[in-house]
Amino acid sequence: MIYMDNAATTRVKAEVLQAMLPFFCEDYGNPSSVHAPGRAARKACEAARRQAASYLGAEAREIYFTSCGSESDTWAVLGSAYAPGNTRRTLVTTQIEHKAVLNAAKNLERNGLCVRYVPVDAQGMVDMSALENAVDKDTFLVSVMAANNETGGIQDIARAAQIAHDAGALFHTDAVQAAHSCRGILSTQSIDMLTLSAHKLHGPKGCGILYIKEGVELGSTVFGGSQERGRRGGTENLPSIVGAGKALELLSTDGKSEYVAALRARLENGILGNIPGTHINGQPDARVPGISNITFDGVDGEALLLNLDLKHICVSAGSACTSGSVDPSHVLIAMGKTREQAQSSVRFSLSDENTAQEVDTVIETLIEITHRLRKMSNSYGR
Ligand code: PLP
Repeated sequence: MIYMDNAATTRVKAEVLQAMLPFFCEDYGNPSSVHAPGRAARKACEAARRQAASYLGAEAREIYFTSCGSESDTWAVLGSAYAPGNTRRTLVTTQIEHKAVLNAAKNLERNGLCVRYVPVDAQGMVDMSALENAVDKDTFLVSVMAANNETGGIQDIARAAQIAHDAGALFHTDAVQAAHSCRGILSTQSIDMLTLSAHKLHGPKGCGILYIKEGVELGSTVFGGSQERGRRGGTENLPSIVGAGKALELLSTDGKSEYVAALRARLENGILGNIPGTHINGQPDARVPGISNITFDGVDGEALLLNLDLKHICVSAGSACTSGSVDPSHVLIAMGKTREQAQSSVRFSLSDENTAQEVDTVIETLIEITHRLRKMSNSYGR
């Protein structure tokens, strides 16, 4: 198998799994219990919190463990709307956010709050002057993702945070796809909330992180006991939390970004140089290293994906299949692509586990499949 869908999820690194294993059958205490196994579990949980804090340049008490990136995003959006004392009624976000933010925003709209969705340019960059115009004294939160999950496009979150703060609003960033570039970020940038998800960085599924800056008030979205400083109820998913901490610790020393960027360049040069009618979507110079979104003119993205799957190559289409119909990607549509272009787009997402040989195999396979599919559909080049 050649796995190039690392923006969807990643393989758990062996060291991460090793760190997690004792917490299933040996040190399986509940961190809230006062007995020895409970205390051992608490110690492991707090060690993971320090690992996450150290990676981000935050204080351990500012790190909150959740069940996934989606929960962290939801908490940031709903929690700031319903924060004790908040009287503002407007959320400002962008058209290209992950559905976790967009659907939380829709929930607020259904409850009578106002949401402004800022557009992006043809390369997927958030229009900062539109953001500036959208934010006012009624804005309680500005949420702009650090990197887009479909194109890898990196946003100017320092500027976005400045715009939010100038209006007295909070600033949240979904950094799920930007984890590699978040080392120490909170020691230099003024961000109120930041989302990460362990399974996107060779950690396990079942653990998200929400950084909440000290002093920021948020309503709760998961009620229960006094876990997570009384702000997010629920017994901690200790093995996943330990895995998340370890994955972040490994990330701080991996230094693999250049390697991944070189692999992507090889992939893109190979595709664009050998397959006519192919285009990179997004701003080529402002992307996270591993993500490449490419339109193959006259080729159905789903068909391409399924044919690649038959050859044991895993990628994602730039569209999502919901209730039987293929919806074009909201991100590509926001960038001004037509429905057809969006449906002819595929996302390749690489990690440091991919090799140059795999890249070459993917290129050769794509040359063969696109040629065949275009011949069958008979529409390309007419
Ligand atoms: N935000 C972004 C940018 C993502 O890419 C994803 C996952 O695809 C999420 C949030 C949601 O993370 P999770 O799968 O942990 O819920």
